[in-house]
Amino acid sequence: TPRVGVLALQGDVREHVRMLDGLGARVSLVRRPADLEAVDGLVLPGGESSVIDKLARAFGMQQPIRTAIDRGLPVFGTCAGLILLADRVEGAISGQETFGGLDATVRRNAFGGQNESFETALAVEGFRGSVPASFIRAPLITEVGPAVRVLARLPDGGIVAVEQRRLLATAFHPEVSGERRFHERFLARVREASLSSR
Ligand code: GLN
Repeated sequence: TPRVGVLALQGDVREHVRMLDGLGARVSLVRRPADLEAVDGLVLPGGESSVIDKLARAFGMQQPIRTAIDRGLPVFGTCAGLILLADRVEGAISGQETFGGLDATVRRNAFGGQNESFETALAVEGFRGSVPASFIRAPLITEVGPAVRVLARLPDGGIVAVEQRRLLATAFHPEVSGERRFHERFLARVREASLSSR
């Protein structure tokens, strides 16, 4: 069984660990470069992207994560995690950087301020039925490159879930609403990737 890590610098780490545990994955927390070397896939949690970015740089994690993404490590980012995967960010705080890898532009806090949180049901490509989605000070994907596959949109057309090779990202929090299928899809990518690297 491959081992998956959750980047545990800030954010809703516990919710992701609980979800992945429930799906039978071997899960560990990733805080240092050595922790990253031990995993076959990585989750970037929801939280505050600018804080996670700062801590990642302070802990010497930015470059190792960038290198791992370049080498094809499967990564799943939710909300702040989506922002951290995006190559371009609108509304970033001054000096904010991302790991990048996802050829997309993401607008931070696209739905307004602190109280702008909502739940809705979405259609997601490849999933049967509707998918509960909680948006918490969520970003929106405003532009995607040709390698990016759009998996879900809001009724107004706004892009909220995408995939690019081994990267998966949602503007909402499946780990909060208990929606398991994104994590299952991520774990399937992790298994494929660890088989093909042998
Ligand atoms: N607004 C946060 C940010 O910019 C993301 C919110 C979340 O992860 N729920 O990082």
